[in-house]
Amino acid sequence: MYSIGIDLGGTNIVAGLIRLDENGEASTLASHKIKTGNGTSDEMIANMGQLCFDVCDKAGIDIKDVKNVGIGVPGLANKKTGVVEVAVNIGWSDVPLRDKLKAITGLDVYIDNDANALAFSEYLIGGGKGYGTSLTVTLGTGIGGGFVEDGRIYTGFNYAGFEIGHIVIERGGRPCPCGREGCWERYASATGLIMTAQDYMIDHPESKMWELASGDITKVEGKTVFDAADLGDTTAKAVVTSYIEAVAVGLINMINLLQPDICIITGGIARQGDRLLKPLLAICEKEVFSRNSPHNTQIVMSKLDDHVSVIGPALLYMEKTITD
Ligand SMILES: [Zn+2]
Repeated sequence: MYSIGIDLGGTNIVAGLIRLDENGEASTLASHKIKTGNGTSDEMIANMGQLCFDVCDKAGIDIKDVKNVGIGVPGLANKKTGVVEVAVNIGWSDVPLRDKLKAITGLDVYIDNDANALAFSEYLIGGGKGYGTSLTVTLGTGIGGGFVEDGRIYTGFNYAGFEIGHIVIERGGRPCPCGREGCWERYASATGLIMTAQDYMIDHPESKMWELASGDITKVEGKTVFDAADLGDTTAKAVVTSYIEAVAVGLINMINLLQPDICIITGGIARQGDRLLKPLLAICEKEVFSRNSPHNTQIVMSKLDDHVSVIGPALLYMEKTITD
């Protein structure tokens, strides 16, 4: 069974030809990437169509043997109408993506928000496999996430729900481009980590973070903080502690709200592994409302590899199958 997944990003469009075997294992047979560019939506859709043919050629598969194509969209994707209602990063507004791509490829097309597609892949083939409810939280440039219950991705009535990066964890805190102050992603995303590091650096000129950033505060990256902490820098260690506490505040809010079987953490910061997970678990064990219950939410790091950005979209068709 073949399916094509497309990750439509602000920088790149990536397509992958995915094979799903009878055990539910997904493998990527071929993938191809092009720059998103700043052309019209029609040009980008034409490029996506070409990518579908390209990955089939690369794998030696006839596109007629492909069941469908799924697309993870960086914005508000109405999966009922197949229209991308808003995608600010790529300048889209009310684009009938499903119908236009179907006209080019002849394939059935499924669309959803990219964070939802990722959450669905974790539910089907990742940490959430075998569980009824699965929460995925992505700690990247911002914070994204998705919640899947019994095969359905939660979207809210207008497909704009689950913007978990914009729950406020500090009233009157750092301003957010969304218009609020103190949003979770202003503290617990990679961007938030960098902002916290910069705040601490100003008060601590002796910190090794200065040296690692070549004396330029604008050159601080997430890695700078962890590297300085590894060198024993007490300021960097304090930044890491503050960061993990910020992750925990939002995560515990989500767990208290949803009580998922499992919560999977993904994104660049998740590569820190146990260094992030262990202190996070220690806080959650003390603060989650249901902590005295015999059953509590498991919290794990994602084990899916980088191809997941196309596997998630490629599996979107299964949401319909499961909920039918
Ligand atoms: Zn916000």
